Amino acid sequence: MRIANLAGRLVLVAADGSAVDVYGASGGKFEPEPQDVFEVWDEFAGWAAGMEPDAIEPAHRAPLDVTLLGSPAPEPRQVFAIGLNYVDHAGESGLSVPEQPPVFTKFVTSITGPTGDITLPAGDVDWEVELVVVIGARAHRVPAARAWEHMAGLAVGQDLSERRLQLTGPAPQFSLGKSHPGFGPIGPVLVTPDELADRDDLELGCLINGQQVQKGRTRDMVFPIAELVQRLSAVTPLLPGDVIFTGTPAGVGLGRTPQRFLADGDELVSYVDGIGEMRHRLVAPAEA
Ligand code: ZN
Repeated sequence: MRIANLAGRLVLVAADGSAVDVYGASGGKFEPEPQDVFEVWDEFAGWAAGMEPDAIEPAHRAPLDVTLLGSPAPEPRQVFAIGLNYVDHAGESGLSVPEQPPVFTKFVTSITGPTGDITLPAGDVDWEVELVVVIGARAHRVPAARAWEHMAGLAVGQDLSERRLQLTGPAPQFSLGKSHPGFGPIGPVLVTPDELADRDDLELGCLINGQQVQKGRTRDMVFPIAELVQRLSAVTPLLPGDVIFTGTPAGVGLGRTPQRFLADGDELVSYVDGIGEMRHRLVAPAEA
């Protein structure tokens, strides 16, 4: 199953690529707000599995216009992000592979959809393509073997990062430096793990103006997704609709010689095979 946030409404993506409005097609059984569905995830998944797309009235179908997509999880209560979760990225960062996953947050107001413009703040703005997990059932002290039962699905994410603020000061400011508006794009759709040939081995990457800058595979994570859920939920209950950014592979601008950062007019394409791609343009702030 694939779901999306089309202009603020929850839609199912049908096999032909069209969008089925969930509120309309379910006769009001499920709320139109995308974030609400995670509270009733099992019930929703059951309904969606039994739905006959051909039986849906035309009034409840629309083309899936990618320019109208928002994040499939636009308002999570908690956002977790994992640092240094790929060996080659830890190496390019000049840091050793962690024995425990470094955890920070991206504040919720940084979340945006899979297309459109992102304004560059002052500083050095870097890219980090990541696989994003959305929680489908409350998870507290969940062992890795049961972790997937608590996930709704997977999406593409970008952990955009302003490196000066992130790395300056007596203690690093990961959460703040990674939380400017637009710094947490998620999309284009949320895909349930059963749709994927191997949910633990997906290619992910990103391109700037057509040039590939990152390319990795999620099987190379230091802490695989199920283990992340175990470790996070050992401390903090994970709530339906919560988001986890699972870390980035090598190829970020900070690790390059010379270093490179995003500039006005750059087009950033981020993808995960089997899920889809996001496409953003970085823009300088308008003159005051
Ligand atoms: Zn990251």
